[in-house]
Amino acid sequence: MNTLEQIRAKLQVYPMEVTFPDIRRWQSGNTGVDYVHAFDSGVAGPHVMIMALTHGNEVSGAIAVDQLLRAGLRPLKGRVTLGFANVEAYHRFDSKIPDASRFVDEDLNRVWSASRLDSGGDSLELRRARELRPIIDSVDFLLDLHSMHEEAPPLLLSGPMQKGIRFAEETGIPEHVIVDVGHPNGKRMRDYGGFGDAASPKNALLIETGQHFSLRSRDVALDAAARFLIKTGVVAATKLDDFLTPGKILNQHFFQVTQPIVADTTDFEFTQDFRGLELIEHAGTVIARDGEREISTPYDDCVIIMPSLRHLAPGVTVMRLAKVLDDR
Ligand SMILES: [Zn+2]
Repeated sequence: MNTLEQIRAKLQVYPMEVTFPDIRRWQSGNTGVDYVHAFDSGVAGPHVMIMALTHGNEVSGAIAVDQLLRAGLRPLKGRVTLGFANVEAYHRFDSKIPDASRFVDEDLNRVWSASRLDSGGDSLELRRARELRPIIDSVDFLLDLHSMHEEAPPLLLSGPMQKGIRFAEETGIPEHVIVDVGHPNGKRMRDYGGFGDAASPKNALLIETGQHFSLRSRDVALDAAARFLIKTGVVAATKLDDFLTPGKILNQHFFQVTQPIVADTTDFEFTQDFRGLELIEHAGTVIARDGEREISTPYDDCVIIMPSLRHLAPGVTVMRLAKVLDDR
């Protein structure tokens, strides 16, 4: 039996290319909720929110929101809200154990259902989600900024609905979009309430900017946040020039997640050094071993999505499998 420490010791160590911003200056917001700042134009328009730190060690989002706040942006119309979600986990970050501060008690991105929020349950993350909930309830368009355990191209997670796919197309970046239903062990913020209701005009996107601590992820977060504010029409493009990454916008490719691969044991190993977006040509190719169990691709042209063993435990999703979605 492997311990999580033994498993992590075998994984690649990534350099810390970015500085964690001191976000304590943003504690007192103007919304009644710490670390949440709202800017109202006074003109009719959507309520647009950019959220950072749903996971406490995903610093690229914190850098982007910190810089947007420093820039003193004011919306042309509607309302813009900028927030830091799991601040407690962020403040506990320790570069010697960089994977540990994803959350404190439980994953903040698995509690976003009314049944969970209204339950008698208690955890640091549930308390924070309950604080944030009235704000999230009033948001029309949400961008939730995340990053990944492993170095890989950025991914936009559109959710399973056509409205999410359309929103991803309108946003136009990044190149790779993952169409997925989320996780069996709890609802994500991006699927909460109206965001997850096909009949609601509300919409949400989640971006995985790249490896947590890379400069490229920081740049992707800044670029995505700026494009989101421009596309939703709430901030003038001229105000966001400094945030945009110059260069050609690539055609997007969409991938439909068909299933998670959930570990049963801690004796789980991939058969290749997967980083994500590998295309496995033949059905039946063995891609992982979980104790005695062999896991193989269920169909031809199967795409590996976000493989990682950093949080390996029985019941944890360690990768997802997807089909290339040409018709949508
Ligand atoms: Zn995350």
